[in-house]
Amino acid sequence: MPPLRLREMTWTEVELLDRARTVALMPVGAIEAHGPHLPLITDGIIAHSMINAAAARLEAAELTPLLLPPLDYSAAPFAASFPGTISVAPKTITALIVDVAGSLADWEIPVLALANAHLDPAHLGALHAATAAVRETGTIQVAFPDLTRRPWGSRLTKEFQSGACHAGQFEGSVVLAARPEWVREEIRTTLAANPTSLSTAISQGKSTFAEAGGPQAYFGDPAGATWEEGEQTIQVLGQILADAVLQEMGMIPRS
Ligand SMILES: [Zn+2]
Repeated sequence: MPPLRLREMTWTEVELLDRARTVALMPVGAIEAHGPHLPLITDGIIAHSMINAAAARLEAAELTPLLLPPLDYSAAPFAASFPGTISVAPKTITALIVDVAGSLADWEIPVLALANAHLDPAHLGALHAATAAVRETGTIQVAFPDLTRRPWGSRLTKEFQSGACHAGQFEGSVVLAARPEWVREEIRTTLAANPTSLSTAISQGKSTFAEAGGPQAYFGDPAGATWEEGEQTIQVLGQILADAVLQEMGMIPRS
């Protein structure tokens, strides 16, 4: 079953939820350049897929997954020079998540989970700051599996782990599986691979895609993307999110 969608519910339906066993799931994305072949909302598509795949696993643990409206704006300074990218100050994102968590806590939801595949360091920093600030309130638990950190990233594909993972095979495969009609196939299939590692570039102090060696806002191998790999990756992402929630709630040991 797909998760309940908060914005389509009435307040009386929310009141009737078994709130002590409800997990609020927030898809976090960005409006950010993803090569000439993938839509700006690529990271949001991945986050939604992650949540849909996690939902069945959470239900199996007798929890009720509840899909929050997406947070589609975020900090995206690496891509800021590409038309279409919208980059919001990290502190704005942190404050928004802290406020949303406060409302959830007011109506006694025990855990908020952030589903995120947008890896700009400024954005990840904003999410970690939000997680720390919410935890400090002690009113609601937060699960945020950062895919760039142990143990989560090691479950993902070789390309992802190489760091050449922006709009390449990894992300392109997920979009092909989740929203094939939004992939510009005639462009994707002609793009040359760009094996430059974004994570290495970031550790060398580069701060834009162009500086990092991605003049078209992609890293990795777009033409190598397949629907099958996307399906597989979505299942792994769902497992990661579900595990992070269950660990946060003390229902399984931490990995
Ligand atoms: Zn992305």
